[in-house]
Amino acid sequence: MHLETLAVHAGHHVDQSTGAVTPPIHLSTTFERAPDGSFPHGLIYTRDGNPNRRALEASLAALEGGAVAAVFSSGMAATNAVFQSLGPGDHVLAPEVAYYGTGKLLREVFAAWGLRATFVDMTNVDAVRAAFRPETRLLWMETPSNPTLAITDIAALSSLARERGVRTVVDNTWCSPVITQPIALGADVVMHSTTKYLGGHSDTLGGALIAREDDAWWQRIHLLQVTAGAVPSPFECWLVMRGIRSLPWRVRAHSANAEHVARFLASHPAVARVHYPALDTHPGADVARRQMAMPGGMLSFEPRGDARNALAVAARLKLFTRATSLGGPESLIEHRASVEGPTTRAPEALLRVSVGLEHHEDLVADLAAALGG
Ligand SMILES: *Cc1c(COP(=O)(O)O)cnc(C)c1O
Repeated sequence: MHLETLAVHAGHHVDQSTGAVTPPIHLSTTFERAPDGSFPHGLIYTRDGNPNRRALEASLAALEGGAVAAVFSSGMAATNAVFQSLGPGDHVLAPEVAYYGTGKLLREVFAAWGLRATFVDMTNVDAVRAAFRPETRLLWMETPSNPTLAITDIAALSSLARERGVRTVVDNTWCSPVITQPIALGADVVMHSTTKYLGGHSDTLGGALIAREDDAWWQRIHLLQVTAGAVPSPFECWLVMRGIRSLPWRVRAHSANAEHVARFLASHPAVARVHYPALDTHPGADVARRQMAMPGGMLSFEPRGDARNALAVAARLKLFTRATSLGGPESLIEHRASVEGPTTRAPEALLRVSVGLEHHEDLVADLAAALGG
């Protein structure tokens, strides 16, 4: 079935006890045993499993083409479970440029625990090939990268890893399965911050892992989900399920809007650089065309001048909200160097934009007024 159909139907069913078309929210923390001590519905206690969580996990597995899924209370809790599934002495290859929290977790939490990490330029296949060690267990990818939208070739790196018996995880938060399907490209596990496009309305925090196979590694991850207990509430699962129903259509609109905005910015004399995979000037444009169904709703640009000038441009915008995060209906803009602090690798004037669902002409008019000229 097509993604639009799966988004509406996977994990959904009409409630048998009431005929309700919209799923009920099951707040019950505990479930009744049968007289013989068994659990007739397979549900025992909500940290271990809940009807709303089950439905969301079924939906996500279907959308990403995986065998199984596990949802978490945040994207970082999902990432944490992956790293915790490894052991002290194991080695991880991670992107040099990626979501800030991923590198921070490896450097500031897991390094002390004995998990080693090498940060590599994932756009350079030769550099990745040279970075494998005998104790490498995991290759972490994120594409397009935050905040410069560098494109990582998922198929090429997944096959390098597979030849060496190394597991691969792709943080697919910026794309969603509508744009990129990492499992079809060869990855073992897909990670999501469901806070972003999947939830889609800037009103719920969550994370997910979806795996190609229900194997021993997955069982370890599942153990960490239910035993460490960073699980989302039934209501949060319900909100993400609601978001997913319109995901394919929202992502298309985000992407079409972002293309208009990117082309406008690329032609503006007050803009030095635009980072967006659909532009021919983008170094990853070829790989992007191969592995992305559309260029997506995220872009970044560098107004001419310094950080102060970039902040002034962002301050003059009326429709764009100055806030972090992405994937909601409202357009957001953020000066990355200020957010990341002194250790940032972001260019000093870089502004990251999550292009929302407003009309693109209104967004372009707002940007034109803020940039001047
Ligand atoms: C937001 C985000 C995360 C972290 O997710 P949270 O839900 O905030 O914990 C991880 N990766 C990417 C690419 C993100 O955008």
